[in-house]
Amino acid sequence: MAPNPSPYPNRVDLDNCAKEPIHNIGRTQAYGVLIVCDPHTFQIVQVGENAEEIIGIDFEELLQKKIPDLLQEKDFKKFKHALHGEDTSEALEVNINGRRINVSAHFSEGSLIIDFEPLHDVQDPFVFQRQLASILNRFQAASSVEDLSEIAVSFTKEMYGYDRVMIYRFDEQWNGEVIAEAKEEELETWLGLHYPATDIPEQSRKLFLKHRVRIISNVSYEPVPITPEISPLTNKPLDLSISALRAVSPIHIEYLRNMEVGASLSAAIIVKGKLWGLIACHHRTAKFLDFYQRESCRFLAQIFSTELTLRETRETLDRSELADNIRRQLINQMNFHKDLIKALCHDTVKFTDLISCGGGAFYIKGTWELLGQTPTREQLQSLLFNFIKKQPKSLFMDRNLSALFPEAKSYKEAASGVLSLKIAENKYFFWFRPEEVQVVNWGGNPEEKAFFNEKEQRLSPRKSFEKWSQELTGVSEPWNVLDRNIARALRENVSHFLLARQREEIEALNEKLTAANQELELFSYGLSHDLRAPIRGMEGFLTILEEDHGEELSADGKQLLRMARGLTEKMNLLIDNILEYSRLSHIHGLDFQEINTTELIQEVLELFNIKSSYPNTTIKINKDLPKVKGDRRMLFQLWANLLSNAYKYSAENDAPVVEVGITDRKGNNVFFIRDNGIGIKPEYKEKIFETFIRAVGSRFKGSGIGLAIVKKIVEKHGGEVWVESEPEKGSQFYFYLDPLNVKEREQ
Ligand code: ADP
Repeated sequence: MAPNPSPYPNRVDLDNCAKEPIHNIGRTQAYGVLIVCDPHTFQIVQVGENAEEIIGIDFEELLQKKIPDLLQEKDFKKFKHALHGEDTSEALEVNINGRRINVSAHFSEGSLIIDFEPLHDVQDPFVFQRQLASILNRFQAASSVEDLSEIAVSFTKEMYGYDRVMIYRFDEQWNGEVIAEAKEEELETWLGLHYPATDIPEQSRKLFLKHRVRIISNVSYEPVPITPEISPLTNKPLDLSISALRAVSPIHIEYLRNMEVGASLSAAIIVKGKLWGLIACHHRTAKFLDFYQRESCRFLAQIFSTELTLRETRETLDRSELADNIRRQLINQMNFHKDLIKALCHDTVKFTDLISCGGGAFYIKGTWELLGQTPTREQLQSLLFNFIKKQPKSLFMDRNLSALFPEAKSYKEAASGVLSLKIAENKYFFWFRPEEVQVVNWGGNPEEKAFFNEKEQRLSPRKSFEKWSQELTGVSEPWNVLDRNIARALRENVSHFLLARQREEIEALNEKLTAANQELELFSYGLSHDLRAPIRGMEGFLTILEEDHGEELSADGKQLLRMARGLTEKMNLLIDNILEYSRLSHIHGLDFQEINTTELIQEVLELFNIKSSYPNTTIKINKDLPKVKGDRRMLFQLWANLLSNAYKYSAENDAPVVEVGITDRKGNNVFFIRDNGIGIKPEYKEKIFETFIRAVGSRFKGSGIGLAIVKKIVEKHGGEVWVESEPEKGSQFYFYLDPLNVKEREQ
């Protein structure tokens, strides 16, 4: 859903006005003359037809001339000098035919555009300075934006003598409101009136950012044509957006006439790069301010803007400092309670204290905590699931909720405005602002701000500017950037708290797990131990059965008996291995001694009777196997497992070979046990070191614990074990031991 564009009713769009290319208007106002020349040769190429009136030379004659023909030599030098400066908008006072003329030039698309305008009698510069000093003092003493605006309007009126001076402030939708006014007594007041955004359309607002001050010296003037109309230099209409002389759009002229305005001057108030408002001056008859006066007005608007910025910044700083203090207190409460609901909703400071609101709600894991004035839980549930969760961003704020989510109308008294913040899928904060019924007084009915003018075949602005009151409902005080930043800061703190709590929980869980694991190992040790006796018993009974009653059994019975024996054997192996594995887990201190590896391997081979079990297998043992330091019993177990696997898994080869040696890997002296057996699939290379993982079918006997035991032993000796293998191409198991590493770790 698109964000609500405006809390005001939909209005007719003054479309053609908003799209009018007002900078390409091709004509000028009459108080000065516009001359265009080639910037290289200074040949004049276009001239306003009122040239005679302003500088006393006919425009057609001017088209034959160059700029140096107009200016005295010293003036032309100054002019050229100014052009090479950084700022071509800088003004220059010259004398043409005995008249004092102000010249301001600028480059536009390959042309040099020059405004020539007459200057008034010289003003005493000290008067202006004194006035300025006084306004600066008064501005500094002003405590609020309203005071500041009052001072600005009365000073501007006093200084320039317009009939009405206003501070016109834009809202978020670019509607304007008159927030201060100084006027002639007999005029009715416009203070507090609102004007729709289309009264000052977007492209006019953009131009204000460029030239800051705009004068319309005579609403009833005849726009002055420029000859020729199209620039011979560019073959395009002239872009006059920078020229102060630019003619006024006919729609705007009509608008001013309907307002009974004869002349106007507007100076932009720009705060943090954005058009905040205007100092708007109206006069009932024609009125011209010359360049210097307009400059002083621009300066005035600038200091007003600076004072405003200062005040807004100070206010923001104060508010965010206050919010920071509250947030710090909330963090303390979170750390103290370790529980979000208690900390944020039930202690001295609540999360609703952070942002000015009528009430708030905290949704956490399906439950609602409500504070102050809020919708009911059922209403909130629907608001969250049917609207807020569908918003694309995690922070949502609007002052006119019911316009976007109609069912919110039923609780607009409590929550016309809502600011919601998602912390996680199951955690949301809400702040609500109550409805503030507002009576907005419009300067004319905004629904009828334009009508189709049959005669001109275009839209015309409204004729009536009479006060038109409108009641706004379902609207709260607006939220601002600071509110949003405060909410975001809270989210960071809460997330931080949740993370810390999660970490603590994970650590606690880890401890429990380790304890449980130990218990489990003890348990399996106990269990395996206890299983041993009954298995031995079973083995005994099976032997008796075979010896004493074997003859009486049928062939099938004998077969079953053999299978039962095989299974008990397997069970025995399994129990032995589990016991060994569990035992290893409980051994902490190792009994380190120097061990002769070659001897140890021989012992293994003999004890397991390997030669007679695998008569076809050739064994190659490297002669230079080093001695190692380690626990004898464990290392015996290690070699036994690796060697028996090598024999077992290569036995099917026609000429099985098992080889034991030493090599260099990863900078370590590494033992290897190589066979030319069935090999291991890549996906099993790591897994086979886990308990009960077997990568072979049942034709090979085994419990799947041998390599897990090997790994545990190697780790207890500070080393590593791994395998390199390819299916059908044999395997090579590697390991090294590093007892020093163990000691370091144990210390
Ligand atoms: P098992 O008792 O099954 O041999 P181990 O833990 O010793 O249990 O080995 C796990 C698995 O690793 C074996 O089931 C087998 O699939 C594979 N394996 C171990 N050694 C070798 C080897 N030398 N060649 C091929 N496969 C092997």
